[in-house]
Amino acid sequence: MFQSGLIETRARLSSADGDPTRKLNSCPALVLNADYTPLSYYPLSLWPWQTAIKAIFLDRVDVVASYDRQVHSPSLDMQIPSVIALKQYVKPSEFPAFTRFNLFLRDRFSCQYCGSPHHLTFDHVVPRRLGGVTSWENIVTACAPCNMKKGGRTPKQAHMALQVPPIRPTSWQLQERGKGFPPNYLHETWRDWLYWDIELEE
Ligand SMILES: [Zn+2]
Repeated sequence: MFQSGLIETRARLSSADGDPTRKLNSCPALVLNADYTPLSYYPLSLWPWQTAIKAIFLDRVDVVASYDRQVHSPSLDMQIPSVIALKQYVKPSEFPAFTRFNLFLRDRFSCQYCGSPHHLTFDHVVPRRLGGVTSWENIVTACAPCNMKKGGRTPKQAHMALQVPPIRPTSWQLQERGKGFPPNYLHETWRDWLYWDIELEE
């Protein structure tokens, strides 16, 4: 019987005595849909290795590629998968998650008032005190100086025009936008919420 706890313990032990090149928790599997496109781009669909191995045992995924790294249990040794594909197609969601990163991406990492790519923050277009909500349609990327200048006013009151009206993007739109921002473009301070720090390949 598969026992993830035991495998995990053994894997920790084996990593201590030989293969220090990669920590196990840095071995996520990229999850592809049954059509071999990523299950999700934003955030990128990554599973911890334990989840990936369970899915293999449950026969829910095919292994596409593996790390050069093994885990051991009493009954078998197994390569840690680096890319897996679902056997059953899952309909991708039409809309991406409302996250800080996705919002920056929609706005091309630039202030929606002056275009600056520096010191980016978020601005409630209609301020909260005037009933503005936190939504795709009411939050834009703004640089700190513009944010300060605008204060608790609407764009009209502040005489600051938005370059593009904020919309809720579809997953497809965000994916297209993302092509202009490959991972090496991303700033290191964004990494905690982006998953981009995780290497997908050896
Ligand atoms: Zn600005």
